[in-house]
Amino acid sequence: MQIYNYGSINIDHIYRVPHLVQPGETLASHSYQQVLGGKGANQSIALANAGANVRHLGRYHPNDAALLDNLRHAGADLSLLQTTDTPSGHAIIQVDDQAENAIVLYAGANHSFRADELAGLLADAQPGDWLLLQNECSCTADMIHTAVEAGLQVAFNPAPMTPAVAQLPLDKLSVLFVNQVEVMQLLATDSPQPLDLNALATQLQQRLPETEVVITLGAAGACHVYHGKVRSVAAWKVNAMDTTGAGDTFIGYYLQAIAGNNTVETALQLGCAAAALCVQQMGASSSIPTAAAVTHFLAGAKA
Ligand code: ADP
Repeated sequence: MQIYNYGSINIDHIYRVPHLVQPGETLASHSYQQVLGGKGANQSIALANAGANVRHLGRYHPNDAALLDNLRHAGADLSLLQTTDTPSGHAIIQVDDQAENAIVLYAGANHSFRADELAGLLADAQPGDWLLLQNECSCTADMIHTAVEAGLQVAFNPAPMTPAVAQLPLDKLSVLFVNQVEVMQLLATDSPQPLDLNALATQLQQRLPETEVVITLGAAGACHVYHGKVRSVAAWKVNAMDTTGAGDTFIGYYLQAIAGNNTVETALQLGCAAAALCVQQMGASSSIPTAAAVTHFLAGAKA
């Protein structure tokens, strides 16, 4: 079973600064770091770490080839990546001494895909394979239609959320991954905290009757909502240092478990265990655990 991931590849330029730069100010930074980022790349690393046969569909500028090493080392298949003259997607990230951040995003190569190029990306896909996508590449609606027509099962994580997501063909999805904020934005609803999951399940059944919706609930765990029924798993009680990448880690481990014919309960548990390891480390892609680490963590929890 192949999982295709039509996903962003970003370069994160991270500047540590005494405070976030003010209008008109020129500010010296304490340090500078360049790392691979993008929700697409992170989710491919999580899938590969989880043991998936994942093929990344994405674009980057040839000058940035070295940044793909992390994806390659994780074991993602990069044979269908394409280069383009457009600059690679990137983020200029300031992080100040209080850990506050400010981010400028440039979609670049991630937005260079045209609708007529998408079928070619899936030329080798077999009916029953999976396509995962996020909201950081162009032609999202076309890619969902193209994959469904080719007989693929489609999983979508509408992050970062935009108003346009509500117009996408979400009813064609097999699985929709959302966090607490995204599900409320999608349903244009206000909900008490913690979320009233049964009320959400009723609304989701009306809006997306044939789509399995997986909601990540931060420190409260995750749940699966389908046909009005809710299945929940609690998060692990851990000392969370940095939750960046937790959702991406969860999605990679959950989807690999489902693609491997595991139950929803097992997939929720694996997703939460992997994400619990992720939140105990600083960083995004570098804090996505290996399958061996997740197995070790679960064995320790049972002992
Ligand atoms: P996102 O990063 O997309 O907003 P969430 O914040 O919902 O996603 O987190 C994704 C998953 O990470 C959760 O379902 C949970 O399993 C795990 N997680 C997040 N925060 C914590 C935490 N403080 N303690 C333990 N697990 C956590």
